Amino acid sequence: MKLSTDSFFFKDLKIFYTLGAKMKNSYISIDKEQNIFVKTPSGSIDFVKDLLSKRESWIRKKLAYMQQYPPIYIDFSGIDDKKRLEKLQRRVEYFSGVMGLKYSCVKFRKMKRRWGSCNSRGEITLNKRLLNTPQVCIDYVVVHELAHIKYQNHSKKFHDFTKIYHKDTKKAQNILSRIVI
Ligand SMILES: [Zn+2]
Repeated sequence: MKLSTDSFFFKDLKIFYTLGAKMKNSYISIDKEQNIFVKTPSGSIDFVKDLLSKRESWIRKKLAYMQQYPPIYIDFSGIDDKKRLEKLQRRVEYFSGVMGLKYSCVKFRKMKRRWGSCNSRGEITLNKRLLNTPQVCIDYVVVHELAHIKYQNHSKKFHDFTKIYHKDTKKAQNILSRIVI
C-alpha cells in the first residue's frame, strides 16, 4: 500500500494523518504544540474519520489539559559550556553519594526524545538541554537515572525509592513534559 501523509479538518480540529503505515494498530497522538496526528495501517480516510469520532472526547480532554498547562519554550543556548556541564556532573556525584549508588560514568548528549538514560553497566547519559531547565527538573532526572542502577524498571519499588531523594516529582514531571525541545 502506498504511504500517504496529508491533513484535513475534523470539525474545528486540524488532523495530520498517515495512511498505509506499516503498523498493526492505529494511533492518535498530540504533540506539545497541540498538533494532532493519526497513523493507521488502513488506506481509507473514512476509517480515520470514524476513529476520530470514537476518540473525540479523549482528544478534547487532552487539549483542554494542554491549554491549562501550555508548552514551555526554553532558550537552549550555552548548553555546551564545559563549566556548566561539570557542575551538572557534580550534582550526579552528590546524589550518588546520598543515595549510596555507584555509577560508572556520565555522558552528556543533545537528545530529542529523552532527558536521561541509564544502562545496565551504570553508564548515565544526560541531555545537555537539562542545563537550562529549573533545578527541580535537573535533580529529578539525576535521581531517576541513578535509581535505575538499583532498579532497571519503573516498578512501585523504583518510584518509592526515588521519592526518598526527590520530593517534587510531580512538579518536575509536569514541567519536563511541557518543554518543547
Ligand atoms: Zn526511567
